[in-house]
Amino acid sequence: MSQANGHDDRTLPPSSAEEASGAFEPLETTRIPPPPHQPGAPDAHTLELVEAALARLDLEARVRLLTGSGFWRTAAEPAIELREMVLCDGPAGVRGERFDEREPSASLPCPTALAASWDESLVERLGALLAIEARRKQVDVVLGPTVNLQRSPYAGRHFECYSEEPLLSGRVGAALVRGIQAGGVAATVKHYTANDSETERYSVDVRMSERALHEVHLAPFEEIVRAGGVWALMAAYNSVDGVTMTESPLLETPLRTEWGFDGLVVSDWFATRSTEGAGRAELDLAMPGPGPDQPWGAALVAAVRAGLVPAEAIERKVRRLLLLAARVGALGALVPPPPPRPAPDAAALLREAAAAGMVLLRDTGTALPLTPDTLRRVAVLGPNAEVARIQGGGSATVIPPYAISPLAGLRAALGPDVEVTHAVGARIRHRLPAVTGADVHDPKTGEPGLWVRFIGPDGELLHEELRGGGRLLWLDDPIVARAVAIEAVGVLRARVDGPHRIGVAGVGRFRLLADGVPLVDDDLVTEDPLGGILTPPERWAVLDLAADREVELHLRHDFAAERPGTGFVLGVDRPVVHEDAELDHAVALAAQAEVAVVVVGSTEESDSEGRDRSHLSLPGRQDELIRRVAAVNPNTVVVVNSGSPVLLPWRADVAAILVSWFPGQEFGAALADVLLGHREPGGRLPMTWPAHEDDPAVLSTTPVAGRLDYAEGIHIGYRGWLRAGVTPAYPFGHGLGWTTWEHVWVETVASGADFVARVRIRNTGPRPGRHLVQAYLSRADGMVERPVLWLAGHTWASAPAGAEVTVELTIPARAFEHWSAESGRRETEPGGYTLRIGGSSAELPLTAKLEVGPGLRP
Ligand code: BGC
Repeated sequence: MSQANGHDDRTLPPSSAEEASGAFEPLETTRIPPPPHQPGAPDAHTLELVEAALARLDLEARVRLLTGSGFWRTAAEPAIELREMVLCDGPAGVRGERFDEREPSASLPCPTALAASWDESLVERLGALLAIEARRKQVDVVLGPTVNLQRSPYAGRHFECYSEEPLLSGRVGAALVRGIQAGGVAATVKHYTANDSETERYSVDVRMSERALHEVHLAPFEEIVRAGGVWALMAAYNSVDGVTMTESPLLETPLRTEWGFDGLVVSDWFATRSTEGAGRAELDLAMPGPGPDQPWGAALVAAVRAGLVPAEAIERKVRRLLLLAARVGALGALVPPPPPRPAPDAAALLREAAAAGMVLLRDTGTALPLTPDTLRRVAVLGPNAEVARIQGGGSATVIPPYAISPLAGLRAALGPDVEVTHAVGARIRHRLPAVTGADVHDPKTGEPGLWVRFIGPDGELLHEELRGGGRLLWLDDPIVARAVAIEAVGVLRARVDGPHRIGVAGVGRFRLLADGVPLVDDDLVTEDPLGGILTPPERWAVLDLAADREVELHLRHDFAAERPGTGFVLGVDRPVVHEDAELDHAVALAAQAEVAVVVVGSTEESDSEGRDRSHLSLPGRQDELIRRVAAVNPNTVVVVNSGSPVLLPWRADVAAILVSWFPGQEFGAALADVLLGHREPGGRLPMTWPAHEDDPAVLSTTPVAGRLDYAEGIHIGYRGWLRAGVTPAYPFGHGLGWTTWEHVWVETVASGADFVARVRIRNTGPRPGRHLVQAYLSRADGMVERPVLWLAGHTWASAPAGAEVTVELTIPARAFEHWSAESGRRETEPGGYTLRIGGSSAELPLTAKLEVGPGLRP
């Protein structure tokens, strides 16, 4: 029998009942060999504490810990001084358990924008900010980064992934993990693996070659596990090779046995599908919980007793959960390291980061940078100028404290002497925007917001409160658990004349009245278990209101008793203006201005978790708006506010195109910094940007009979474009700054098993600047199938106008390796490789030959 400190003796102490029945056999030694040493591996003291705690738990107590105690919480165990741990999304800001207007979260640029910065130290600083946010919100585990690959521009969560390039995704992800975990908070790399699109996301069975799996789709996870010692990993919803990821053998090999992952594997939310299969697999924590749908709990205890799940599998799971608890300071007297000091200035960091991710695709040099001294009038146009998209949809969404729009940012930066005019031009918003305190007030007190009442089963009032707006969500809420209905009341004041769309989005029964007249009276349903949170069904009616007219809205939402969570959006859309007139107005403003900045973008219908895109065009009449504006103003600057590529059919007709992505709460300030030339646009494309709808290699993300075949194999992204010989609108790695560069020479030297490339570049333009030096490998001969090119390294270089500078890049031995299906591991094919250096995957003027001998790694 194990002792309290007997961590070498991996047997369970029987509970008294078990002792009596003799149900417990001594356990065999754990099947998995000890992992290779990892950076960040726990010290002996921590391991002892974990073993001592583990030894004090019987089977029931162990299994109880393996299912969440709530939507975002793990279970506590006072007997071993284990407190609950809180796990919250996500990769672009920390939501916290209560994510609403009362507890806002810093909103970071979306992950694609972070990867576009190609700047690991910046991303690490953003990780530190996430840790501070997490600590402020009592969150122990951040559910990010998302390192699935941008396999297709149609993927709904494209904005939430870093890149189409495994190496870049892995390095950026590792930097974020370092930053988060240095603050004593766990990061969760997700979604393991091949969760690269949303169609049939809960069930799709992904098939690909073993080589593509290891060399491409597992590679970012491997990079992060090996480099940074990430403390948690999320198993995806989908299957790979017919096995759902929460039961997959990939959770054992390569994850634990080869890469040495000692952290916790948590299921994606509701992704644990079996008692035994998942119990036997190396999945540790089923989330969320508790509840009747959870397959573990008592059923898992019974499965262990029946010999269907080995007790040592449970032991391993609990050990890893306790280790996570030790790392975040949730076990015993352990405390996490202090949060980073000095705390970064969040606004300044977010502004810097947003600008660092922006990619200048095109610049004729006529309109940018904007110079307030010489400008008199600038037209800031487009549907996203005043109400921009700062983030993508789904679990990566946070409620920010504020959001600076492009219009506000440019107005502030251009100053009082430049007249800034504005028109929407083309309307694109389709989902109902939630009412805000600016639109509604409490009928009794007149205070901005909605009065919300919780009604009990006997019609009694359980609780009431004033809320700031109409986006309301409660999860694990004790009052909601006692309630059967929620009512929200507010007086809406119309700002302009016209037909207003007024309605509700949610799941359940809704009745909405305006001055006593029913607008909505319906049961709203969704089949998606998370549909109520992601994109709930909407119902609305149109009400003609004159400006300043007030109307009292009364919404009642009924739901089943003892349901701890619900939510809805009470929304009002401003009147639909006449579209032709709106467009004409924008064009007229453009004609009267010296520069027209047109901010266009995607809608909430695209760039969102839960669904893939159906086309790549800008929605609505935005292309027409840009064409007509460009026809009257040669200084037209287009800002593309989208999380993934869109078609730019007018791209040769405008002076400049800047991709802002979803840049977070500091959007407008960062945009002004870039457009006025106070900062360089720091981004370079982390994916290929297509010219035509049919050009990308992966056009469909729709499974056929439940299966999705990754036919492109290892030729993902730019590798596939080069192989097919199709020219994109803008290649992978592309992006301009405020100056120009010449690549002068490269020389290489061996450095241990790696190579170092020394690269000389010259700033040939009129301004100081920063240049991203990119290194790729290729190999024309050889016996192994290869991508045309593959990224092997990158570094940023800075130089004053006219100056030359030499930078060094490491080309790691790993860059020469390929996965061999025959040997089941990575191998290096000896011989000659070509190193190609330049400013994008399509512009690589310098080359060097590298000779790799058989003596090199592995
Ligand atoms: C998403 C995860 C997320 C989880 C919790 C899931 O639907 O796929 O990325 O962390 O929900 O919100």
